[in-house]
Amino acid sequence: MDAIYKTLIEDGYVSLTIIESTQIVNKAIKLHNLTPLTAAGLGRTMTASLFMASTLKNKRDKIYVTISGDGVGGHVVVSVDASLCVRGYIDNPSATLPLKENGKLDVKNLIGNGRITVVKSMGLKEPYTGSSKIISGEIAEDFAYYYTVSEQTPTAMALGVKVSKSGKCVGAGGVIMQVMPGCSLDKIERAENLIAKFSSVSSIIEEIGAEKLCKEYFGEYVFDKYEPKYKCICSKKYVDGVVVSLGKSEAEDIVNEQGKIEVVCPYCNKKYAYFKEDLSKLFINK
Ligand SMILES: [Zn+2]
Repeated sequence: MDAIYKTLIEDGYVSLTIIESTQIVNKAIKLHNLTPLTAAGLGRTMTASLFMASTLKNKRDKIYVTISGDGVGGHVVVSVDASLCVRGYIDNPSATLPLKENGKLDVKNLIGNGRITVVKSMGLKEPYTGSSKIISGEIAEDFAYYYTVSEQTPTAMALGVKVSKSGKCVGAGGVIMQVMPGCSLDKIERAENLIAKFSSVSSIIEEIGAEKLCKEYFGEYVFDKYEPKYKCICSKKYVDGVVVSLGKSEAEDIVNEQGKIEVVCPYCNKKYAYFKEDLSKLFINK
């Protein structure tokens, strides 16, 4: 079952988060018809974004993550809120590449070179925006680097998505550690050694699941548990606003030319259609 487990280790100086996101990745595979490669790229990004959301303080806070690389997948976009509802898409869901020499998916060349941008909307007037360079394209290292340079929080991250031959995700998740201010070097070193045990985190999750992972590797700690899910928050009301923002004459022009305005939600592929009579209702007071 998908879950996020959090605790503090090393006398409270290192936060530890363990995420299982297998069902979330399967939902994304179904919605977007992902290949194993794009499932890995989007799945790893959704898992990292869930970690980010698990640190939000207020219920209405939201995070938008964009990985804008020049790889074959195009951009990866994920949105997640404080209640741990996540949704996402990749520009080219059907992208494929040959496997790497070690038999693993070539996520690096799916993503390519570019930047990670994180926008945190926290009820303030101006949202917080942070950005960093893509340093590896494998995503875990890129998010760890983002935290280190953009938020000054040393972070170690292992992320994985394993997809079976039939195209189904059989194990997805991550292990993330963050160092608190004042942490000693030997504690940091121990955390680094620990994260190295999770280089195949998707296989561990496939075999035993995240709950057992917590017990087997960190049995002496008590974890808080949270439940993430894939959920799109698009609505007719929101899309109405998008159509209204086109302006009356522009909207009418499109309907006259194409018969309707069709808006497709990129996160869940739901279609919203507006015909002539819908526009007259929408622009009744405009
Ligand atoms: Zn939607």
